[in-house]
Amino acid sequence: ASEITPLIAGNWKMNGLSAQLAEFQLLGEKLATLKDRRAMVAICPPATLLAAMSEKGAVNGIATGGQDCHASPSGAHTGDISALMLKDAGAQFAIVGHSERRADHGETDAQVREKAQAAIAAGLTPIICVGETRAEREAGQADSVVATQLAGSVPDAAAANEVVIAYEPVWAIGTGLTPTNADIAQMHDGIRKLLVERFGGRGETIRILYGGSLKPANAKEILAVENVNGGLVGGASLLANDFFAIISAA
Ligand code: PEP
Repeated sequence: ASEITPLIAGNWKMNGLSAQLAEFQLLGEKLATLKDRRAMVAICPPATLLAAMSEKGAVNGIATGGQDCHASPSGAHTGDISALMLKDAGAQFAIVGHSERRADHGETDAQVREKAQAAIAAGLTPIICVGETRAEREAGQADSVVATQLAGSVPDAAAANEVVIAYEPVWAIGTGLTPTNADIAQMHDGIRKLLVERFGGRGETIRILYGGSLKPANAKEILAVENVNGGLVGGASLLANDFFAIISAA
């Protein structure tokens, strides 16, 4: 929908044992057959597979990312993973502020902003997620909720560093439901406007991904919407055929 190279990023969530590397290999082989691939491709696997997939992905033209990172580079934080560790394992991206982390771990906009800042400091591109719940949309608050999340979650460093925004309506994630194209266009236009207000010309080039039940059957039309600069894909990124079809539609 624009001159911005689209990014199609897969989010494997808490799925994937080493056997799943075969599916990743298959994706790489299918991508090699795609003559005029327009999109940049990334997969964010569980941290246990990150190093192996980064190594394979480097051969196949697939970038990798983490699904979260801690705000500190190291320290006494049992079970957490720092942005520097993701980078060290070969990642180029880090998803931050996914709605499942906001819900399961109570992450606030301020925490998400710190994580995004840590990702940038480690040399990663943060994929900063925002999106309203069903109740918020029904109450007519979708725009204001997303505006508040953007203002609070996107660090000032976005003015001079690469960041990606992912608009993911919570009610569309893993449900098979999607907003209308008109609703997606309206939200992405609004996000673009806010980015330009805050970051000037830089805000024109920040990728805004759509996420939420993106699949082969709806990818073509959603990815063609103005100001949709790619997609964040959950369920459909686990199967090479489905993910490949979405990449081909970009
Ligand atoms: C996600 O969780 O980022 C997502 C978009 O999930 P799904 O594609 O499964 O709705």
